[in-house]
Amino acid sequence: MTADHRSRVLAPLEAELPDLEALYVDLHRHPELAFAETRTAGELARRLEASGYEVHTGIGRTGVLGVLRNGPGPTVMLRADIDALPVEEKTGLEYASTAKGVDAGGNEVPVMHACGHDMHATWLSGAADLLARGRAEWSGTLLAVFQPAEEVGDGALGMLRDGVFGHAGAPDVVLGQHLVPGPAGWVLTRPGVIMAATDVLRIVLHGRGGHSSRPETTVDPAVLAAHVILRLQTIVSREISATESAVVTVSTVHVGTVNNVIADHATLEVNVRTFDEQVRTKVLAAVERIVQGEAATAGSPKPPEIARIGSFGVTSNDDAVSAELTEAFGEHFGADRTMEAPLVTGSEDFSEFGKSAGVPSVFWLVGGVDAQTVLTAIAAGRFEQDIPSNHSPLFAPVIHPTLRTGVETLVVGALRKLSAPAVA
Ligand code: ZN
Ligand code: ZN
Repeated sequence: MTADHRSRVLAPLEAELPDLEALYVDLHRHPELAFAETRTAGELARRLEASGYEVHTGIGRTGVLGVLRNGPGPTVMLRADIDALPVEEKTGLEYASTAKGVDAGGNEVPVMHACGHDMHATWLSGAADLLARGRAEWSGTLLAVFQPAEEVGDGALGMLRDGVFGHAGAPDVVLGQHLVPGPAGWVLTRPGVIMAATDVLRIVLHGRGGHSSRPETTVDPAVLAAHVILRLQTIVSREISATESAVVTVSTVHVGTVNNVIADHATLEVNVRTFDEQVRTKVLAAVERIVQGEAATAGSPKPPEIARIGSFGVTSNDDAVSAELTEAFGEHFGADRTMEAPLVTGSEDFSEFGKSAGVPSVFWLVGGVDAQTVLTAIAAGRFEQDIPSNHSPLFAPVIHPTLRTGVETLVVGALRKLSAPAVA
């Protein structure tokens, strides 16, 4: 596929930007939690239909598949996730969300697109439309997949279980991208592992309850939990080699309900991130050993319970396809707007599609923060403090040039893997 094909497909983008900006702002104002993305899915499906796609909705509850059959050649799948988070937006943007939703526990919560999935959806909607309008420039089949519920880790598997590949067959390659707090207009690629595996553990520590005035009659689960929390910090600092990496975060701690009672149990949730299967096994075994050991030391009346309540595998890119795309992005954007991505400690369920189809997949990152702001923060050694990250209530990507960059990456990536049109 030549640069001419690319530029002909991308030619209408400039004129489309106001409409895509309106879509982005609309999605940002109306975020929906995992598996509740009905308004979002409806709008994205409507746009796919208008672009000439065969559209299937309700896949994996709220997922949308658009199919564009355009002659012989490979099937390329482009994926965007569409769900938002239970976060209260504090960006102060004119189009900030004031939406509310109901979480899995039945509680009303504020909702915000704090991970940029509104931008992901807009990117794919724009790219799908350009590729449809420019279908004379390529041959093959396109699958545009809008996936729900990435944040809860069940959206990709839900669409797969519901037969997303049953309508136009499985793809030959799967491509996806994520908005990150890097310089806007930049594209970051990486061969091999790019994002971490996540394991979420729920740990119940048992004590013996009693009167707050008579601790000698109890086994205090608050003190036990405190020991466990501190000891867990030694896994990364004392058990993992300096050349490996992992994160162990105790995210929630619940113990007791009233000041004059020593509770009979404590519940912790622990979030573990790793990039390597051996390190993953080692960290999980260390958590288990420490929890069991501290409970025994405290004299717990019964053993602790450790349940894995969620997990994502690593997001791993096919080396060969990643190299092809890196080359194509370099050609299109220039060396000053492409760089190697760092390892990301966030996780994704994107890889499930490629794994399920047994085909290569590649996931890359697109920056969304004003480039000068990022470079100034890095120069001052204040990137972590000054640039709000994904999931922050202050996460506020700049629309331009972020929007057009992510449309271009999808078009450039898809054209790299589709066939050239048959010569008439
Ligand atoms: Zn996220
Ligand atoms: Zn995300």
